[in-house]
Amino acid sequence: MIDYHSHFEAAIEAIHAEKRYRVFADLERIAGRFPAALWRHEGKSREITVWCSNDYLGMGQHPSVIDAMTTTAQGLGSGAGGTRNISGTSHPLVELERELAELHGKEAALVFTSGFVSNEASISTIAKLLPDCLILSDELNHASMIEGVRRSGVRKQVFRHNDLQHLEELLAAADPGRPKLIVFESVYSMDGDVAPISAICDLADRYNAMTYIDEVHAVGMYGAHGGGITERDGVAHRLDVIEGTLAKAFGVLGGYIAGSRAVIDAVRSYAPGFIFTTALPPALAAAATASIRHLKASGAERAGQQRQAGAVKQLLAEADLPVMPSDTHIVPVLVGDPDLCKRASDRLLEVHGIYIQPINYPTVPRGTERLRITPTPLHDDALVAHLREALRETWSALGIPFASERGEASERAPERMPALLVAQAGG
Ligand SMILES: *Cc1c(COP(=O)(O)O)cnc(C)c1O
Repeated sequence: MIDYHSHFEAAIEAIHAEKRYRVFADLERIAGRFPAALWRHEGKSREITVWCSNDYLGMGQHPSVIDAMTTTAQGLGSGAGGTRNISGTSHPLVELERELAELHGKEAALVFTSGFVSNEASISTIAKLLPDCLILSDELNHASMIEGVRRSGVRKQVFRHNDLQHLEELLAAADPGRPKLIVFESVYSMDGDVAPISAICDLADRYNAMTYIDEVHAVGMYGAHGGGITERDGVAHRLDVIEGTLAKAFGVLGGYIAGSRAVIDAVRSYAPGFIFTTALPPALAAAATASIRHLKASGAERAGQQRQAGAVKQLLAEADLPVMPSDTHIVPVLVGDPDLCKRASDRLLEVHGIYIQPINYPTVPRGTERLRITPTPLHDDALVAHLREALRETWSALGIPFASERGEASERAPERMPALLVAQAGG
């Protein structure tokens, strides 16, 4: 007799043994009171402050976004009713794709049911359609990109994170006649650093490679219209494919790619992850469009986010907390141990009413376990001051080393270690 269950129990036990078993917080966000939420735990409900949401600008609760969602649902109903090909292409979805193409200055865009699916489906399909394609992939790419690379079945080479020299070595060593696809991100979500996009495009030009960039952690937040780092740096036209999500700064759900008509039409026509699944519902499409349009016209949310992220970095660093270097709105604070990281998160929630999910392996390399803080324009100065006090108390109570006690350890170097395998997992 095969004892099926024992295999699953053993798999879970292995995760417990490594102190990285994931516990989900049961939350109810309160529309209009961002970043407050109700936390349900052991039969009780308590109001807490969320400090780790990817609803980076609070757009998930913006009145115009909620209004677009509810009025569209009232008018067109809840679901899409079919795949894109079989009755599921609602007019709000058509409008959304037009909006996204325009946002990135591309000929066309294609919406998927998530950013994960958009990467998996697009990278695999694009690479498969190029004869004998070679993929060059940044070692810290997100799990969804890794899955796309794997699914393509083509040869891949991983370049060291943001390392132009290594990328060039790999490009130069490859057959000049061989199609090449460089896949990378703009903002890396766990460290908050930014790729040298323009220089990567230079290499792509020199070695005749195609470029695919994941702007998931940048769209809505950078560039004069929220077109991401590629807009901010004036390089969007140099990228062949720009991928993004509607679920983070835009506050809704769904993913997309934008590019030339030919590339978009090919993915539309060949990608199973696009073809054989029900389309995004019209209410979500309309809400996403409302959010994109708002952030196109308004820079206030972006300015507020940068201001508060800067304030958090500065205050925490002054309080001797080991803030890891970051060039963006993401504020990682190093703990360096999975058990302590989980306990710090639990204590912040239970004692201080502050929710920051622990980030452990395999999302980040072992030894770099951290609290990843995402300040928004709606985390005001009083909340920032409270965060600082709560973190200091937690660090002292649990004996987590402060920055001055760590020396080298809070530098960027250690987190780069075992990356090849590790980087691959996100979320
Ligand atoms: C979150 C994330 C995705 C996936 O986007 P979803 O819309 O949440 O599925 C893709 N790439 C990166 C870098 C991400 O962090």
